[in-house]
Amino acid sequence: MKKEYFTYNPSQTKKLAEILAKKILKIRPKNKAFIIGLEGDLGGGKTTFLQGFAKGLGIKEKILSPTFVIFKKFKITKRKNKKQKIKSPLFAHSKNAKMQKFKNFYHVDCYRIRGSKEILNLGFKEIISNPENIVAIEWAEHIKKIIPKGVFWIKFKFIDKNIRKIKIMC
Ligand code: ADP
Ligand code: MG
Repeated sequence: MKKEYFTYNPSQTKKLAEILAKKILKIRPKNKAFIIGLEGDLGGGKTTFLQGFAKGLGIKEKILSPTFVIFKKFKITKRKNKKQKIKSPLFAHSKNAKMQKFKNFYHVDCYRIRGSKEILNLGFKEIISNPENIVAIEWAEHIKKIIPKGVFWIKFKFIDKNIRKIKIMC
């Protein structure tokens, strides 16, 4: 599936990401991490997008453009669905209580990464193997070789000062 959006300011980009994050939280985790590759122009809005995305995941900390940090891990604690808040053993077997949840959000920035080996040495395989993780990778094109098939890809294009084209492929 391919969807293309135009956003006309950073807030619209963040909102688009927030909506996507909320949808992803409803997905039942599979046997590996949920991965999103973000690629495209410098200043295209990848970090801005991930700020909205983290908000949608219920993360309060600020998402920055990491200059020296390659991975940053955030805890996903939001439990909006009221049914999941009920601790009673009566609900232990209900559909919602049984549903496994994403627990961590990894913001990865491969801007400085030249070649897949570098990031493999940092434990990338373990991070993308853990079904509790949602992993968003900026500059994912730098490590395309080691990104599994069938993941989400989002392409950012700088159109002018305030306009971005955002293509979501999944
Ligand atoms: P990247 O991570 O792709 O290099 P950033 O998100 O760090 O890009 O930077 C995007 C810059 O463009 C920010 O300064 C942001 O305020 C600005 N901007 C202007 N219009 C938009 C828009 N429609 N969507 C996202 N960012 C925008
Ligand atoms: Mg960035």
